[in-house]
Amino acid sequence: MNYIICHYHEIGLKGKNRKVFEKVLVKNIKQVIPPEYLNYVKRISGRILIELTKQGEGQQKKIIKSLKNIFGIAYFAFAVLVKQDIKSIQNKACQLLKKERFKTFKTETKRANKNFPLTSQEINEKIGAKICNTLNKKVDLKNPEITCFIEIVEKFAFIYLKKHKGPGGLPVGSSGKGILLLSGGIDSPVAAFYALKRGISLDFIHFHAQPYTNKASIEKVIELIKVLKKFQPIVKLYLVPFGEAQQEILLKTPDKLRVILYRRLMVRIAERIAQKEKAKALITGDSIGQVASQTLENLGVVQKAVSLPIIKPLACLDKEEIIQKAKEIGTYEISILPHQDCCARFLPKHPETKADLEKVKKAEKKLNIKKLIEGALKNTKIEVLK
Ligand code: ATP
Ligand code: MG
Repeated sequence: MNYIICHYHEIGLKGKNRKVFEKVLVKNIKQVIPPEYLNYVKRISGRILIELTKQGEGQQKKIIKSLKNIFGIAYFAFAVLVKQDIKSIQNKACQLLKKERFKTFKTETKRANKNFPLTSQEINEKIGAKICNTLNKKVDLKNPEITCFIEIVEKFAFIYLKKHKGPGGLPVGSSGKGILLLSGGIDSPVAAFYALKRGISLDFIHFHAQPYTNKASIEKVIELIKVLKKFQPIVKLYLVPFGEAQQEILLKTPDKLRVILYRRLMVRIAERIAQKEKAKALITGDSIGQVASQTLENLGVVQKAVSLPIIKPLACLDKEEIIQKAKEIGTYEISILPHQDCCARFLPKHPETKADLEKVKKAEKKLNIKKLIEGALKNTKIEVLK
Protein backbone atom coordinates (compact mmCIF):
# COMPACT_ATOMS: atom_id res chain seq x y z
CA MET A 1 0.00 0.00 0.00
CA ASN A 2 2.02 2.95 -1.19
CA TYR A 3 -0.54 5.71 -0.74
CA ILE A 4 -1.93 7.38 2.35
CA ILE A 5 -5.17 9.33 2.27
CA CYS A 6 -5.58 11.85 5.08
CA HIS A 7 -8.99 13.24 5.92
CA TYR A 8 -9.76 16.28 8.01
CA HIS A 9 -13.08 17.56 9.24
CA GLU A 10 -12.85 21.01 10.63
CA ILE A 11 -10.74 22.54 7.94
CA GLY A 12 -13.29 21.40 5.44
CA LEU A 13 -15.64 23.95 6.99
CA LYS A 14 -13.39 26.94 6.71
CA GLY A 15 -14.52 28.16 3.28
CA LYS A 16 -12.00 30.38 1.58
CA ASN A 17 -9.34 29.67 4.20
CA ARG A 18 -9.40 26.01 3.33
CA LYS A 19 -6.48 26.24 0.93
CA VAL A 20 -4.29 27.93 3.54
CA PHE A 21 -5.18 25.30 6.13
CA GLU A 22 -4.47 22.49 3.70
CA LYS A 23 -1.10 23.96 2.81
CA VAL A 24 -0.11 24.16 6.47
CA LEU A 25 -1.22 20.56 6.92
CA VAL A 26 0.89 19.44 3.94
CA LYS A 27 3.89 21.29 5.36
CA ASN A 28 3.41 19.72 8.80
CA ILE A 29 3.12 16.22 7.36
CA LYS A 30 6.35 16.74 5.41
CA GLN A 31 8.03 17.82 8.61
CA VAL A 32 7.42 14.52 10.40
CA ILE A 33 7.91 11.97 7.63
CA PRO A 34 11.50 11.63 6.39
CA PRO A 35 11.88 12.87 2.78
CA GLU A 36 13.28 9.54 1.64
CA TYR A 37 9.91 7.97 2.47
CA LEU A 38 7.97 10.43 0.33
CA ASN A 39 7.37 10.84 -3.37
CA TYR A 40 4.88 13.63 -2.73
CA VAL A 41 2.32 15.08 -0.33
CA LYS A 42 -0.42 17.03 -2.06
CA ARG A 43 -3.90 18.45 -1.71
CA ILE A 44 -6.56 16.58 -3.66
CA SER A 45 -10.34 17.15 -3.49
CA GLY A 46 -10.77 17.74 0.23
CA ARG A 47 -8.06 15.29 1.24
CA ILE A 48 -4.31 15.16 1.53
CA LEU A 49 -2.72 12.46 -0.59
CA ILE A 50 0.69 11.02 0.24
CA GLU A 51 2.60 8.82 -2.17
CA LEU A 52 5.28 6.76 -0.45
CA THR A 53 8.54 5.55 -1.89
CA LYS A 54 9.44 1.86 -1.72
CA GLN A 55 11.43 2.65 1.42
CA GLY A 56 8.48 4.50 2.95
CA GLU A 57 6.14 1.61 2.21
CA GLY A 58 8.13 -0.55 4.59
CA GLN A 59 7.82 1.97 7.42
CA GLN A 60 4.09 1.85 8.13
CA LYS A 61 4.46 1.63 11.91
CA LYS A 62 6.76 4.61 12.13
CA ILE A 63 4.57 6.67 9.82
CA ILE A 64 1.41 5.82 11.78
CA LYS A 65 3.09 6.99 14.97
CA SER A 66 3.98 10.32 13.41
CA LEU A 67 0.65 11.01 11.70
CA LYS A 68 -1.30 10.22 14.87
CA ASN A 69 0.09 13.45 16.35
CA ILE A 70 -0.50 15.74 13.40
CA PHE A 71 -3.33 18.06 14.38
CA GLY A 72 -5.85 18.62 11.62
CA ILE A 73 -5.99 14.95 10.61
CA ALA A 74 -9.31 13.31 11.51
CA TYR A 75 -8.27 9.93 10.13
CA PHE A 76 -5.88 8.44 7.62
CA ALA A 77 -5.53 5.19 5.75
CA PHE A 78 -2.92 3.28 3.81
CA ALA A 79 -4.45 2.70 0.40
CA VAL A 80 -3.82 1.21 -3.00
CA LEU A 81 -4.50 3.09 -6.17
CA VAL A 82 -6.32 1.52 -9.10
CA LYS A 83 -7.68 2.68 -12.42
CA GLN A 84 -10.99 4.43 -12.14
CA ASP A 85 -13.17 1.71 -13.65
CA ILE A 86 -15.44 -0.68 -11.88
CA LYS A 87 -13.70 -3.87 -13.04
CA SER A 88 -10.30 -2.76 -11.82
CA ILE A 89 -11.80 -1.75 -8.46
CA GLN A 90 -13.62 -5.07 -8.15
CA ASN A 91 -10.51 -7.10 -8.91
CA LYS A 92 -8.26 -5.14 -6.62
CA ALA A 93 -10.77 -5.25 -3.75
CA CYS A 94 -10.94 -9.03 -4.05
CA GLN A 95 -7.16 -9.30 -4.21
CA LEU A 96 -6.78 -7.27 -1.01
CA LEU A 97 -9.53 -9.07 0.88
CA LYS A 98 -8.23 -12.50 -0.08
CA LYS A 99 -5.36 -11.96 2.34
CA GLU A 100 -7.70 -11.18 5.28
CA ARG A 101 -9.53 -13.55 7.60
CA PHE A 102 -13.21 -12.67 7.90
CA LYS A 103 -16.68 -14.00 7.25
CA THR A 104 -18.76 -10.84 6.97
CA PHE A 105 -18.00 -7.53 5.31
CA LYS A 106 -19.44 -4.37 3.84
CA THR A 107 -18.26 -1.85 1.29
CA GLU A 108 -18.27 1.89 1.86
CA THR A 109 -17.74 4.28 -1.03
CA LYS A 110 -17.00 8.00 -1.13
CA ARG A 111 -17.34 9.55 -4.55
CA ALA A 112 -15.64 12.95 -4.79
CA ASN A 113 -15.56 12.80 -8.59
CA LYS A 114 -19.23 13.18 -9.46
CA ASN A 115 -18.51 12.46 -13.14
CA PHE A 116 -17.96 8.82 -12.38
CA PRO A 117 -20.88 7.02 -14.05
CA LEU A 118 -22.00 5.06 -10.97
CA THR A 119 -23.35 6.45 -7.69
CA SER A 120 -21.72 5.46 -4.39
CA GLN A 121 -24.55 3.04 -3.73
CA GLU A 122 -24.16 1.39 -7.12
CA ILE A 123 -20.42 1.04 -6.59
CA ASN A 124 -21.02 -0.54 -3.18
CA GLU A 125 -23.42 -3.05 -4.70
CA LYS A 126 -21.16 -3.99 -7.60
CA ILE A 127 -18.03 -4.42 -5.47
CA GLY A 128 -20.02 -6.22 -2.77
CA ALA A 129 -21.52 -8.67 -5.24
CA LYS A 130 -18.12 -9.45 -6.70
CA ILE A 131 -16.63 -10.11 -3.26
CA CYS A 132 -19.55 -12.37 -2.32
CA ASN A 133 -19.22 -14.41 -5.49
CA THR A 134 -15.48 -14.61 -5.76
CA LEU A 135 -14.52 -15.05 -2.12
CA ASN A 136 -17.72 -16.62 -0.86
CA LYS A 137 -18.31 -14.05 1.93
CA LYS A 138 -21.46 -12.53 3.44
CA VAL A 139 -22.52 -8.91 3.54
CA ASP A 140 -23.36 -7.53 6.98
CA LEU A 141 -24.17 -3.83 6.87
CA LYS A 142 -24.65 -3.44 10.62
CA ASN A 143 -21.77 -5.35 12.15
CA PRO A 144 -19.23 -6.39 9.53
CA GLU A 145 -15.93 -7.93 10.52
CA ILE A 146 -14.21 -5.97 7.82
CA THR A 147 -15.04 -2.92 5.71
CA CYS A 148 -13.71 -2.32 2.25
CA PHE A 149 -13.42 1.43 1.73
CA ILE A 150 -13.41 2.87 -1.77
CA GLU A 151 -12.76 6.49 -2.69
CA ILE A 152 -13.31 7.85 -6.17
CA VAL A 153 -11.19 10.98 -6.30
CA GLU A 154 -10.23 13.04 -9.35
CA LYS A 155 -8.99 10.49 -11.87
CA PHE A 156 -8.09 7.80 -9.34
CA ALA A 157 -9.76 5.14 -7.26
CA PHE A 158 -8.35 4.20 -3.87
CA ILE A 159 -9.08 1.12 -1.82
CA TYR A 160 -8.26 0.54 1.84
CA LEU A 161 -9.33 -1.71 4.68
CA LYS A 162 -8.33 0.15 7.82
CA LYS A 163 -8.77 3.70 9.10
CA HIS A 164 -6.34 5.14 11.65
CA LYS A 165 -7.66 7.82 13.94
CA GLY A 166 -5.87 11.17 13.86
CA PRO A 167 -5.95 13.70 16.70
CA GLY A 168 -8.42 16.11 15.01
CA GLY A 169 -8.14 19.85 15.68
CA LEU A 170 -6.47 22.32 13.32
CA PRO A 171 -3.01 22.13 11.76
CA VAL A 172 -0.35 23.72 13.97
CA GLY A 173 0.42 27.16 12.56
CA SER A 174 -2.91 27.66 10.83
CA SER A 175 -4.19 29.89 13.65
CA GLY A 176 -1.01 31.96 13.99
CA LYS A 177 1.54 32.00 16.75
CA GLY A 178 1.35 32.19 20.54
CA ILE A 179 3.85 32.41 23.36
CA LEU A 180 3.37 29.74 26.01
CA LEU A 181 4.52 30.31 29.58
CA LEU A 182 5.91 26.94 30.57
CA SER A 183 6.60 26.43 34.25
CA GLY A 184 7.56 22.80 34.72
CA GLY A 185 4.33 22.03 36.60
CA ILE A 186 1.48 19.80 35.46
CA ASP A 187 -0.74 22.42 33.92
CA SER A 188 1.21 24.48 31.42
CA PRO A 189 2.28 21.54 29.19
CA VAL A 190 -1.38 20.52 28.97
CA ALA A 191 -2.28 24.10 28.05
CA ALA A 192 0.34 23.81 25.29
CA PHE A 193 -1.34 20.68 23.98
CA TYR A 194 -4.73 22.39 23.71
CA ALA A 195 -3.28 25.53 22.08
CA LEU A 196 -1.41 23.43 19.52
CA LYS A 197 -4.58 21.45 18.89
CA ARG A 198 -6.37 24.66 17.92
CA GLY A 199 -3.70 25.38 15.34
CA ILE A 200 -1.59 27.83 17.36
CA SER A 201 2.13 27.33 16.81
CA LEU A 202 4.12 28.00 19.96
CA ASP A 203 7.31 29.53 21.22
CA PHE A 204 7.95 28.78 24.89
CA ILE A 205 9.13 30.95 27.76
CA HIS A 206 10.42 29.63 31.03
CA PHE A 207 11.24 31.95 33.92
CA HIS A 208 13.94 30.58 36.20
CA ALA A 209 15.66 31.87 39.30
CA GLN A 210 19.19 30.77 38.60
CA PRO A 211 21.62 31.23 40.25
CA TYR A 212 19.28 31.39 43.27
CA THR A 213 17.86 27.97 42.43
CA ASN A 214 19.42 24.93 40.75
CA LYS A 215 19.15 23.98 37.10
CA ALA A 216 16.39 21.41 37.63
CA SER A 217 13.55 23.59 36.39
CA ILE A 218 15.33 24.27 33.11
CA GLU A 219 16.15 20.61 32.59
CA LYS A 220 12.53 19.80 33.31
CA VAL A 221 11.06 22.19 30.79
CA ILE A 222 13.46 20.87 28.17
CA GLU A 223 12.23 17.33 28.90
CA LEU A 224 8.63 18.52 28.67
CA ILE A 225 9.30 20.20 25.36
CA LYS A 226 10.83 16.99 24.03
CA VAL A 227 7.46 15.34 24.63
CA LEU A 228 5.51 18.23 23.10
CA LYS A 229 7.71 18.16 20.01
CA LYS A 230 5.66 15.30 18.63
CA PHE A 231 2.99 17.92 17.93
CA GLN A 232 5.35 20.67 16.72
CA PRO A 233 8.76 19.35 15.65
CA ILE A 234 10.76 22.56 15.95
CA VAL A 235 10.49 24.51 19.19
CA LYS A 236 12.06 27.73 20.38
CA LEU A 237 12.52 28.15 24.11
CA TYR A 238 13.27 31.44 25.83
CA LEU A 239 14.97 31.04 29.19
CA VAL A 240 14.40 34.22 31.14
CA PRO A 241 16.24 34.91 34.41
CA PHE A 242 13.71 36.10 36.96
CA GLY A 243 15.64 35.98 40.23
CA GLU A 244 16.66 39.64 40.27
CA ALA A 245 13.11 40.79 39.64
CA GLN A 246 11.80 38.53 42.38
CA GLN A 247 14.35 39.87 44.78
CA GLU A 248 13.23 43.41 44.13
CA ILE A 249 9.54 42.54 44.45
CA LEU A 250 10.31 40.73 47.68
CA LEU A 251 12.09 43.71 49.17
CA LYS A 252 9.84 46.53 48.05
CA THR A 253 6.24 45.37 47.88
CA PRO A 254 3.62 43.89 50.26
CA ASP A 255 3.83 40.09 50.72
CA LYS A 256 0.20 39.63 49.84
CA LEU A 257 0.62 40.93 46.30
CA ARG A 258 3.84 39.13 45.53
CA VAL A 259 2.51 36.42 43.22
CA ILE A 260 0.34 38.86 41.28
CA LEU A 261 3.30 41.18 40.81
CA TYR A 262 5.43 38.25 39.59
CA ARG A 263 2.74 37.30 37.11
CA ARG A 264 2.23 40.84 35.83
CA LEU A 265 5.94 41.15 35.26
CA MET A 266 6.13 37.76 33.58
CA VAL A 267 3.38 38.58 31.10
CA ARG A 268 4.96 41.94 30.32
CA ILE A 269 8.26 40.24 29.51
CA ALA A 270 6.38 37.60 27.53
CA GLU A 271 4.61 40.33 25.59
CA ARG A 272 7.92 41.86 24.56
CA ILE A 273 9.08 38.49 23.27
CA ALA A 274 5.72 38.06 21.53
CA GLN A 275 6.25 41.35 19.69
CA LYS A 276 9.61 40.16 18.48
CA GLU A 277 8.18 36.82 17.41
CA LYS A 278 5.05 38.32 15.84
CA ALA A 279 2.93 36.23 18.20
CA LYS A 280 -0.67 37.28 18.79
CA ALA A 281 -1.39 35.79 22.21
CA LEU A 282 0.13 34.65 25.49
CA ILE A 283 -0.94 31.27 26.81
CA THR A 284 -0.79 30.00 30.39
CA GLY A 285 -1.86 26.94 32.35
CA ASP A 286 -4.09 28.90 34.73
CA SER A 287 -7.22 27.12 35.89
CA ILE A 288 -9.90 29.07 37.72
CA GLY A 289 -9.80 28.63 41.47
CA GLN A 290 -7.00 26.07 41.46
CA VAL A 291 -4.71 28.20 43.60
CA ALA A 292 -5.02 31.59 45.26
CA SER A 293 -3.46 33.41 42.31
CA GLN A 294 -6.02 32.05 39.90
CA THR A 295 -9.26 33.70 40.98
CA LEU A 296 -11.23 35.65 38.38
CA GLU A 297 -10.19 38.89 40.10
CA ASN A 298 -6.50 38.03 40.04
CA LEU A 299 -6.54 36.74 36.50
CA GLY A 300 -8.22 40.00 35.49
CA VAL A 301 -5.54 42.11 37.15
CA VAL A 302 -2.80 40.08 35.44
CA GLN A 303 -4.49 40.49 32.07
CA LYS A 304 -4.53 44.26 32.50
CA ALA A 305 -0.72 44.40 32.53
CA VAL A 306 -0.62 43.63 28.79
CA SER A 307 -2.65 44.27 25.70
CA LEU A 308 -2.22 40.87 24.04
CA PRO A 309 -4.90 38.39 25.09
CA ILE A 310 -3.81 35.85 27.70
CA ILE A 311 -5.42 32.59 26.69
CA LYS A 312 -6.01 29.99 29.37
CA PRO A 313 -6.98 26.72 27.73
CA LEU A 314 -7.43 25.00 31.10
CA ALA A 315 -9.50 27.78 32.66
CA CYS A 316 -12.56 25.61 33.21
CA LEU A 317 -11.04 22.15 33.63
CA ASP A 318 -10.79 20.30 36.94
CA LYS A 319 -7.38 19.23 38.20
CA GLU A 320 -8.39 15.59 37.65
CA GLU A 321 -9.18 16.26 34.00
CA ILE A 322 -5.87 18.07 33.56
CA ILE A 323 -3.91 15.23 35.16
CA GLN A 324 -5.70 12.71 32.96
CA LYS A 325 -4.73 14.68 29.86
CA ALA A 326 -1.14 15.12 31.06
CA LYS A 327 -0.90 11.33 31.39
CA GLU A 328 -2.28 10.83 27.89
CA ILE A 329 0.16 13.32 26.38
CA GLY A 330 3.08 11.86 28.31
CA THR A 331 4.08 14.97 30.29
CA TYR A 332 2.71 13.95 33.70
CA GLU A 333 5.62 11.80 34.85
CA ILE A 334 8.06 14.60 34.05
CA SER A 335 5.91 17.31 35.62
CA ILE A 336 5.71 15.59 38.99
CA LEU A 337 9.48 15.32 39.37
CA PRO A 338 10.65 17.69 42.08
CA HIS A 339 12.09 21.04 41.06
CA GLN A 340 12.48 24.48 42.54
CA ASP A 341 9.90 26.65 40.84
CA CYS A 342 11.03 30.24 40.78
CA CYS A 343 7.63 31.36 42.05
CA ALA A 344 7.58 28.91 44.90
CA ARG A 345 10.43 30.83 46.47
CA PHE A 346 9.18 33.16 49.19
CA LEU A 347 5.51 32.37 48.68
CA PRO A 348 3.46 34.56 51.02
CA LYS A 349 1.41 32.87 53.78
CA HIS A 350 -1.75 34.74 52.89
CA PRO A 351 -1.72 35.63 49.21
CA GLU A 352 -4.28 38.09 47.88
CA THR A 353 -7.25 36.33 46.35
CA LYS A 354 -9.20 39.40 45.25
CA ALA A 355 -6.60 41.74 43.86
CA ASP A 356 -7.50 45.36 43.35
CA LEU A 357 -5.91 46.94 40.30
CA GLU A 358 -5.31 50.31 41.96
CA LYS A 359 -3.52 48.76 44.91
CA VAL A 360 -1.42 46.62 42.59
CA LYS A 361 -0.48 49.65 40.51
CA LYS A 362 0.47 51.51 43.64
CA ALA A 363 2.77 48.69 44.70
CA GLU A 364 4.34 48.65 41.24
CA LYS A 365 5.25 52.33 41.59
CA LYS A 366 7.91 51.17 44.03
CA LEU A 367 9.52 49.02 41.35
CA ASN A 368 11.52 50.04 38.35
CA ILE A 369 9.45 47.89 36.01
CA LYS A 370 11.19 49.06 32.86
CA LYS A 371 14.61 48.24 34.23
CA LEU A 372 13.48 44.84 35.47
CA ILE A 373 12.06 43.98 32.05
CA GLU A 374 15.15 45.16 30.17
CA GLY A 375 17.47 43.39 32.61
CA ALA A 376 15.63 40.09 32.23
CA LEU A 377 15.50 40.38 28.44
CA LYS A 378 19.18 41.23 28.22
CA ASN A 379 20.14 38.02 29.99
CA THR A 380 17.59 35.82 28.25
CA LYS A 381 18.95 32.76 26.46
CA ILE A 382 17.29 31.15 23.48
CA GLU A 383 17.39 27.46 22.71
CA VAL A 384 16.04 25.92 19.55
CA LEU A 385 15.07 22.28 20.00
CA LYS A 386 14.90 20.29 16.78
P1 ATP B 1 1.69 24.84 36.32
O1 ATP B 1 1.35 23.47 36.71
O2 ATP B 1 1.64 25.08 34.86
O3 ATP B 1 2.98 25.29 36.96
P2 ATP B 1 0.24 25.98 38.46
O4 ATP B 1 -1.07 25.39 38.74
O5 ATP B 1 1.40 25.59 39.30
O6 ATP B 1 0.57 25.75 36.92
P3 ATP B 1 0.94 28.71 38.82
O7 ATP B 1 2.25 28.29 39.39
O8 ATP B 1 0.10 29.68 39.54
O9 ATP B 1 0.00 27.51 38.50
O10 ATP B 1 1.18 29.27 37.39
C1 ATP B 1 0.15 29.65 36.55
C2 ATP B 1 0.69 29.73 35.15
O11 ATP B 1 1.70 30.77 35.06
C3 ATP B 1 1.42 28.47 34.71
O12 ATP B 1 0.53 27.50 34.21
C4 ATP B 1 2.35 28.98 33.66
O13 ATP B 1 1.69 29.16 32.42
C5 ATP B 1 2.74 30.34 34.22
N1 ATP B 1 3.98 30.21 34.99
C6 ATP B 1 4.13 30.08 36.32
N2 ATP B 1 5.43 29.97 36.67
C7 ATP B 1 6.13 30.03 35.53
C8 ATP B 1 7.52 29.97 35.17
N3 ATP B 1 8.46 29.80 36.11
N4 ATP B 1 7.87 30.07 33.88
C9 ATP B 1 6.94 30.22 32.93
N5 ATP B 1 5.63 30.28 33.18
C10 ATP B 1 5.22 30.18 34.45
MG1 MG C 1 3.37 26.25 38.82
